[in-house]
Amino acid sequence: MARRIDSYLKDLIPAEKLAFYEAVRDFGDSEIAPHLLHWERSHSLVPDSCIQAMGDMGLFGLPIAEAYGGQGGDHTDLVLMGLALAYHSQAVAITPGAAISLGAKPLQLCGTEAQKQAHLPALAKGERMFVFGLSEPGRGSDAANPQVTAVKKGDRWVLNGEKCWSTNARWASHVVVHALTNPTGQNGKRSTCFIVPMGQKGVFYQEMQGKKVWEQSSTGSIMLENVEVPHDAILGAENDGFKVMVTTLNGGRLFIASLALGSLAFALDKCRVYAEERLQFDDKPIGRFQRVQDVIVDMDIALESGLTWLLHLCRLYEAGTLSREQAAKIKVECSRRASDLIVLAMEICGGVACFDEFGLIRHHNDLFVTRVGEGSNFALKDLIVRPLRQA
Ligand SMILES: Cc1cc2nc3c(=O)[nH]c(=O)nc-3n(C[C@H](O)[C@H](O)[C@H](O)COP(=O)(O)OP(=O)(O)OC[C@H]3O[C@@H](n4cnc5c(N)ncnc54)[C@H](O)[C@@H]3O)c2cc1C
Repeated sequence: MARRIDSYLKDLIPAEKLAFYEAVRDFGDSEIAPHLLHWERSHSLVPDSCIQAMGDMGLFGLPIAEAYGGQGGDHTDLVLMGLALAYHSQAVAITPGAAISLGAKPLQLCGTEAQKQAHLPALAKGERMFVFGLSEPGRGSDAANPQVTAVKKGDRWVLNGEKCWSTNARWASHVVVHALTNPTGQNGKRSTCFIVPMGQKGVFYQEMQGKKVWEQSSTGSIMLENVEVPHDAILGAENDGFKVMVTTLNGGRLFIASLALGSLAFALDKCRVYAEERLQFDDKPIGRFQRVQDVIVDMDIALESGLTWLLHLCRLYEAGTLSREQAAKIKVECSRRASDLIVLAMEICGGVACFDEFGLIRHHNDLFVTRVGEGSNFALKDLIVRPLRQA
């Protein structure tokens, strides 16, 4: 059965973008889908060979300019990759996705020319990965006030504290550390971002254990103990670190929406097939029951509307006119809609939905991350409501 998402994308994107989406989709079908169950049951992270293959396809350099060794693509390409890979596995999709949208992006947006020359070519090839070091054990939604500190010592800075939830930490070459540098400054002007090599003295990484979402994605805790970096390790302006981070998150939230829609697209196709094949009561398909049809139709509507909206926002992102509220809204809506619907999708498939090889339970678990990651939906609503309260 043809994928429903493919029929929508045909009408929404030009031919060359569709060809790119199809290439990544085919890669997912042949190089990810057949191995997923084994990776899950053996509790392994995305294998190095898979990361290498994605690097060879140029996925890590998608929206990086050709002058820096990238593919010269745009944010639409990034979300198309998210849709294609997340159809099978959000955990695989987030690996290049976070490397680009959270790792390379702050450098693209706020780096000096010297910093870009030093890092972007290797990031574009997937030979290096940057980690987005915003969250901490004691600072999640309240990210503007980090507990990690950076103190000036002569011409150097000394960093102390802990970052956590760091996606891709296992493979990272550097972490962009968001640290408190100006405790008495106004809110949003208290912190600075630093590019810190993972191999620097005093940097310790540990994989966070027990995570039951995005299971093949690396999620690390990064300790910083008297880590010294030079002044030119600063990314963006001094005491403007929060701006670097929140500007980056606009694009990241569009990518998270693509993960939610990729999972939804998988669930929709799974249910369409199952509802016609599963025979109950007089050996007739359960797809004849209106309540089953309702769920499938709701998934279809959510997918079509979500794709149309997301691709529109990608165009605004490229034009430089996407607002923080717009990026937050699509992340909130796609994640809650897809995660609400997947519970119903599982219900119409009955007991078989409980099994890993059926695939829905993986997407169910992974969709939870889309609700809390890159700003929890509840906290983002604080942002979304602001223009609504203006007279
Ligand atoms: C798998 C995974 C990968 C991640 N990767 C990264 C990464 O690469 N880099 C990184 O920096 N972070 C990463 N994160 C962290 C993620 O961004 C945080 O989990 C998120 O910002 C929420 O922070 P918290 O979990 O500390 O929740 P808290 O801030 O403790 O919030 C808990 C809950 O309180 C409520 N709440 C909080 N604030 C408000 C508010 N203002 N209004 C209403 N309700 C509110 C919400 O229900 C919220 O979900 C990752 C998280 C996960 C789960």
